[in-house]
Amino acid sequence: MTNLSNKTALVTGASRGIGRATALALAEAGVRVIVHYGRSMAEANAVVDEIRSAGGQADAVQADLETPDGASTLAERVHKLVEKPLDILVSNAGVSKAAKFEDYELEDFDRLFATNVRSPFFLVQQSLPMLAEGASIVLVSSLVVRAVPGNPSQADAPSLSAYAATKGAVETLVRHWAAALGSRRIRVNAVAPGVIETDMSNFTKTESGRNITLGMQTLKRIGQPSDVADVIAFLCSENARWITGAIIPVDGGSKL
Ligand code: NAD
Repeated sequence: MTNLSNKTALVTGASRGIGRATALALAEAGVRVIVHYGRSMAEANAVVDEIRSAGGQADAVQADLETPDGASTLAERVHKLVEKPLDILVSNAGVSKAAKFEDYELEDFDRLFATNVRSPFFLVQQSLPMLAEGASIVLVSSLVVRAVPGNPSQADAPSLSAYAATKGAVETLVRHWAAALGSRRIRVNAVAPGVIETDMSNFTKTESGRNITLGMQTLKRIGQPSDVADVIAFLCSENARWITGAIIPVDGGSKL
């Protein structure tokens, strides 16, 4: 088990899915976790309660990251809550949309880029003054940057292209920020999950969804939030001290 005691982390979108699992994994490693949520206060409080009842430290903080000032509001709220520098920032909150290319609306495109690209960009920018020397930033990319899941040549196959483009932007930010922040010993990395069983990938609940997913992986089970959370916790640890600017696939060997 990774030991991260005396560290403080902010995890965005931590009320469910990969963010929730990350908050729990970091707390188990001894981290005080700021559990960010957008709309699901009850779920966020449940994560905080779970951490506290296991003897850990956690607080919930709200901000809607789709709005133009969401990221700076979040940074401000975290700054007020945390009296010492922030050691870990996990930018996990995100939205996706699978639809026929022809059916995408301008609003869909803007919502995807606002939440998945603009908000991490300004959250990291606004967090710079409170990040500790040697801090770790982890972003969440996706398999869809390097591969097209499913059977895209099928006439009615849904397109993930706009979502994929947001994650391509995230990977670009990782490399530029890693280069810029190395002088402060701040490491910046991303995980690129394959299909993970969460609300976002709820097609894993259907037989055809499971078959498509298993068909593109070499490891034959459906990925779980904790599969990703454990890698994020590793990236935040001293064991990953020489890793920065990296995108780590966490996908059970998808589309090899
Ligand atoms: P999820 O839908 O369960 O979680 C998404 C989280 O983001 C939720 O906590 C949600 O509240 C938060 N969020 C969304 N919009 C927000 C907003 N406007 N303001 C504040 N919070 C907001 O899905 P997940 O699978 O846990 O997704 C977590 C991350 O993993 C996302 O960045 C997603 O793109 C990425 N990802 C997921 C998969 C997958 O198959 N599940 C694969 C690759 C990458």
